[in-house]
Amino acid sequence: MAPDRSPWFTGTVEAVHVETARAKTFTLRLPEPLGHRAGQHVVLRLTAPDGYSAARSYSVASPPTGEPTIDLTVERLEEGEVSTFLHDVAEPGDELELRGPIGTRFAWDPSDGPALLVGGGSGVVPVMSMLRLARAERRTDLVRLVAAARTPADLLYAAELPGPEVTIAYSRAAGPDGRPAGRLAADDLAPSVAPGQRTFICGSSGFCEAAGRLLVGLGVDAHTITVERFGPTT
Ligand SMILES: Cc1cc2nc3c(=O)[nH]c(=O)nc-3n(C[C@H](O)[C@H](O)[C@H](O)COP(=O)(O)OP(=O)(O)OC[C@H]3O[C@@H](n4cnc5c(N)ncnc54)[C@H](O)[C@@H]3O)c2cc1C
Repeated sequence: MAPDRSPWFTGTVEAVHVETARAKTFTLRLPEPLGHRAGQHVVLRLTAPDGYSAARSYSVASPPTGEPTIDLTVERLEEGEVSTFLHDVAEPGDELELRGPIGTRFAWDPSDGPALLVGGGSGVVPVMSMLRLARAERRTDLVRLVAAARTPADLLYAAELPGPEVTIAYSRAAGPDGRPAGRLAADDLAPSVAPGQRTFICGSSGFCEAAGRLLVGLGVDAHTITVERFGPTT
């Protein structure tokens, strides 16, 4: 694949919203609308005064709106270079270097037809952009979203995410619907599987592998599944 050569631009932190004990959403004001598709990501680069720089990918949580702002939701990883800076140091008014939008495969809009969206942990971020777009365009008939989190306190967008098109599976706590604690299982996914869907899975490598295996076991054609792994940036 040809390397992405989109230019760097500056985003200004406009607001910081605490999502959970480990995740914050940063609203960034851009020079112009990003022009992204739901599911795409940006690369964020930090540069120290001595010239050392570190770049990491972050999915855009907000849907395309035509406005020159985007939301990025970042989970804080202990010892993480970039995520700890964003959590512990970045504040409104700060400028951050970005480039993008990036990623043509992990992207959806209602004209693409039905979609099954599966996100684990911070992997909920890009599928939330897709869900927000479907809700904004009143096309929730096209989407089913299955989110996995450790406990209700770890669930991103907890106030906004639940809805008739959404299933939530907690691995370490019982759900309000009576689902016992446990890893994502075929029974969580089966009711959301429908013919003609494209499937998007996002999360850690282990989560993506497990979810993909469960879906193939339910008869989903592996060729219709697109995976985005949130792992260490190489
Ligand atoms: C396409 C794409 C989109 C992404 N979108 C998001 C997003 O929306 N929100 C978000 O919070 N993250 C996202 N990530 C992950 C993000 O790019 C960074 O990897 C993450 O923030 C850690 O960076 P860091 O500099 O803090 O940690 P690093 O300094 O890179 O790593 C610190 C330690 O954590 C390990 N590590 C690194 N990344 C991860 C990870 N993702 N999970 C577990 N351990 C890890 C490293 O091996 C190392 O031991 C995305 C990744 C990709 C590839």
